[in-house]
Amino acid sequence: MAYWNEHWETMPREELEAYQSEKLVWQVKRCYENVECFRNRMDELGLTPEEIHGIEDLPKLPFSYKKDLRDYYPYGLFAAPMKDIVRIHASSGTTGKRIVAGYTKNDLEVWADGAARVLTSVGLGEGDIIQVSYGYGLFTGGLGLHGGAEKIGATVIPMSSGNTALQIQTMIDLKATALCCTPSYAMYLGEEVQRLGVQDQLSLKAGIFGAEPWSEEMRRQIEAALGIRAYDIYGLTEIIGPGVSGECEYQAGMHVWEDHFIPEIIDPDTLEPLPVGSEGELVFTTITKEGMPMIRYRTRDICRLDPVPCKCGRTHYRMMKPHGRTDDMLIIRGVNVFPSQIEEVLLGFTMGGITPNYQIIVDRVNHTDTFDINVEMSEEFFADDMKSIEKLEGEITAKLRSVLGIGAKVHLVSPKSIARSEGKAKRVIDKRKI
Ligand code: ADP
Ligand code: ZN
Repeated sequence: MAYWNEHWETMPREELEAYQSEKLVWQVKRCYENVECFRNRMDELGLTPEEIHGIEDLPKLPFSYKKDLRDYYPYGLFAAPMKDIVRIHASSGTTGKRIVAGYTKNDLEVWADGAARVLTSVGLGEGDIIQVSYGYGLFTGGLGLHGGAEKIGATVIPMSSGNTALQIQTMIDLKATALCCTPSYAMYLGEEVQRLGVQDQLSLKAGIFGAEPWSEEMRRQIEAALGIRAYDIYGLTEIIGPGVSGECEYQAGMHVWEDHFIPEIIDPDTLEPLPVGSEGELVFTTITKEGMPMIRYRTRDICRLDPVPCKCGRTHYRMMKPHGRTDDMLIIRGVNVFPSQIEEVLLGFTMGGITPNYQIIVDRVNHTDTFDINVEMSEEFFADDMKSIEKLEGEITAKLRSVLGIGAKVHLVSPKSIARSEGKAKRVIDKRKI
């Protein structure tokens, strides 16, 4: 059992919570003194930092939102002077305008430490050769995993994303033992590895994939295509980047590094905190971050925390795979639909003739929502007759209807006709919003 930082990762909960309380008091005070947005919200509630004594007082504190990052763009939420900010990142802008985050030297340490814990917990260390195929630059993926990989003393290949043929050649030539990228890109790389028939030339044993939701079925497919074990890693720019949480060797939820990030689950409608174990919206408070601390930041990610002690010995709660964000949720003819539910159904049919490449298209025609799903067929199935194609379309449609409670038009399209993604996949085209 390897830990990166055994002291913190296995700290008894009582001790961990006492530490969280102490840091929370410190953080609230400095945010009140240095961040106008936070001070105004506290003042509106008639709340002073002195009234916050520990984590039991968390629910008293005001929430913060993505909108705050836009309203105070670019530097208005920083709690440290600019001279102490040594790095800037920005979100990839999946939903709306780009937002900016600032890091002090210590924040970069905390971040690298979080990523290092994840890499270590899946069995990587010195002697491993880690190919980082997340995009480098303002996006946190590339440099985030890079920092963690260097910290554990592995050999880092800073590939960045793109140029799939070169990615595979590099993996083979440089004998990469681990790959870090988005799960959709891992899937694409897996597809290409299979097509080229080079799986036995790879030295890969593990993949660390995150930055977007992916299902258990997708995990199985990536594992089979690349001959690896695939692990989930989670993070967001507002909180620090990838490595806020990550799976251990048991692949059963992602340990949240609670000595830095306090998670809460709230009911997104009533805003009340829910008992641990319930599903709801994930909220984070960063208790050690200096550059751009966040108090009760509403992630919009829907998930559940599991307090059951993990076999790995880590005491930090695990978050289950987020289904997606409340912002990703589609409302089609009044029914709530998460793209991840559709993916789960489609992946169940991949043995039957389709590939996991799909696109959801929603539009409004004559005041009624239309709901179409294009799914690529596999090369073998494509050669089949029209009758079996129609039959499969019918089966997928029926399954989707029973899972979603709403009808979609499923179209099986020719192989490779849907654009592949080298970063986060674009699965939904909602024409109602264009
Ligand atoms: P953007 O908001 O532009 O996508 P980020 O890269 O900061 O920028 O994205 C963070 C978001 O990505 C998270 O809030 C979450 O919705 C999603 N995400 C990150 N990692 C995972 C993961 N492992 N599983 C599911 N969703 C994830
Ligand atoms: Zn564990």
